[in-house]
Parts: sequence; C-alpha cells; structure tokens
Amino acid sequence: MSQTASTTARKPGTPPKRRTPRLLTVIAARHITPNMIRITLTAPELGDIPAGCEGAHCKIMLPEDGQSAGAFAAQLADGPRPVTRTYTIRHARPERQEIDLDFVAHGDEGPASAWARRAAPGSFCGFAGPGPVKLTEFYADWYLVAADMSALPVAAATLEAMPRDAKGVALIEITSEDDRQSVDAPPGVAMNWLLQPDPHAPSDAQERLIRALDWPSGTVQTCIAGESGVIRALRAFLHNEKGLSKKETYISGYWKIGLVEDEHQQMKRAEANG
Ligand SMILES: Cc1cc2nc3c(=O)[nH]c(=O)nc-3n(C[C@H](O)[C@H](O)[C@H](O)COP(=O)(O)OP(=O)(O)OC[C@H]3O[C@@H](n4cnc5c(N)ncnc54)[C@H](O)[C@@H]3O)c2cc1C
Repeated sequence: MSQTASTTARKPGTPPKRRTPRLLTVIAARHITPNMIRITLTAPELGDIPAGCEGAHCKIMLPEDGQSAGAFAAQLADGPRPVTRTYTIRHARPERQEIDLDFVAHGDEGPASAWARRAAPGSFCGFAGPGPVKLTEFYADWYLVAADMSALPVAAATLEAMPRDAKGVALIEITSEDDRQSVDAPPGVAMNWLLQPDPHAPSDAQERLIRALDWPSGTVQTCIAGESGVIRALRAFLHNEKGLSKKETYISGYWKIGLVEDEHQQMKRAEANG
C-alpha cells in the first residue's frame, strides 16, 4: 500500500467524513397549485447527482433572515448546523445542474414552509444528499400508493417510474380541489384524489378506503407516506392484518401534527429503538 493510501484509508467501522453541504441558489419559485410551491435550485455540484434520483430525499438547510450567502456558506462548512429539514427530489436535471423541490405551503410557523413562501431567484439554502430512491425494483402484481401533500412528490415520482403496465390504486389527500396535479401514472393505476381541507385535523379517510379495497391476490408493493398518525394506523393494518413484508412496503411518517421536524425525527428514532 502506498504511503498516501495508508494514511487516508478509513479504519473499519469509522463513518465516512461528512461532506460539507452544498450551497444552492434559487432560480425559480412558483405556486404549482394553491398549497404547493415548486422551487428550482442550481449549483455546479448538482451536475454530479445521479440521473433518476427523483423520489429520493435530501436535506435542506435554511439561512437566517438577512444572512449573507458568504456567511451562510461559512456556517455550512464550520457550523453550527443551520435549521435542517427533509424534502424530496421531484425532478433532477443533472445536465443543467438543477433540481426541483415541491414544498407544501403550510404557513409561516415552519421555517421551511416560510422560506419557500418567500423564496425568489437569488435566494439560497444548503443541500445534502440525495439519499436512496425509495422504490427501485418494480415486480408487484398490484401497487398501493397513498400520500398526503408532503408525500405527493415521492408518490408522483414513484408512479412515474413504474412500468407502464403496472396495476394498482393511488390515494392522494389534498387540501383543496385545485391541489390536484397532473401525474404521469400508468393507465392501470387508478388515481383517487381525496379532499382534506384541514391537514391538522386527524383523518382516517385513507385507512377507511384502503381497508375497503378489493385486495387482489399476488405480490403487493407500496409507496405510502404522510402524517405520522395516519401512517401508524396504515402500517399496523398492512403488516399485522394483511401480512405484507417490510421489504415490499415503503411506508414512512413524513411529519406529525403538532411537532416540528426534529421532534418528529426524535420520536421516530425512539419508536424504532423501543
Ligand atoms: C423522507 C421525507 C421526505 C419529505 N419530502 C417532502 C417534500 O418533498 N415536500 C414537503 O412539503 N414535505 C416533505 N417532507 C415533510 C417535511 O419534512 C415536513 O413537513 C417538515 O416538518 C416541514 O418543515 P417546516 O419547517 O415547514 O415545519 P416544522 O418546523 O417542522 O413544523 C412546524 C409546524 O408545522 C406543522 N407541519 C409540518 N409539516 C406540515 C405539513 N406538511 N402540513 C401541515 N402542517 C405541517 C408541524 O406539525 C408543526 O406544528 C418530507 C419528510 C420526509 C421525512
């Protein structure tokens, strides 16, 4: 082994050194529906993200009000860690060094929602990721997709990546009729849009509909995400009553009524460990 290789090699079990989050600049920000804002971001490093990473999650770091891009870049490199939130790559165009992220506009209480509502060309944020794409192999006889607006990006990306002859059902909860989006789903997947005008009111609409579905025989794969209370009930149904395996069910809580993201992530870790 050369001197350089032996001194730079990681000890087994040592986590890789974290890469400094990249600084992304907003090139466009627009409402695509009344409660969803699409932000297009760019940076030279986005040329390196894998093509086909739509549906993967990423971390977004938010600057403080009035912070300069230079000061924020220094903070990304040296700390302290800025406010960080999780989002989904809706579209990736590495050849143009661009991504689109879709933010639910749920008011100014959440720093990410507030940032998206004010974002304009020239605004900036930090970025780490992308993580792995949620469903990469499609082999089911039947697919079940369920999402609220926070998970509409992962649901849409998954539906668009499915084989064109896929069969199944998609249930998407939206805040207003005008929040429907055009999704290029396979023709054999029935799209259902459910109106849930108050996302903070606990809802069992998805669970009731999923329980009432005429469940086919054969392999089922799912892509399900949204508010944690809804997800908890659906997870119990799919695993305990329907006997679906964890391998075939992507199901994840993306936010929780009354908790900020860090509290929600803490709750998920505690549940996973205990
Ligand atoms: C893997 C993953 C991928 C995700 N992808 C996306 C995505 O692409 N687009 C997206 O919009 N969200 C996405 N989310 C959800 C997003 O991370 C959370 O909604 C996050 O809490 C938003 O941060 P915030 O700063 O706006 O609000 P926070 O500061 O975290 O919360 C402030 C308040 O707003 C409430 N709140 C949080 N989210 C919502 C919501 N969606 N609707 C109504 N009230 C809410 C909280 O309960 C809390 O009371 C994803 C989450 C995960 C785990």
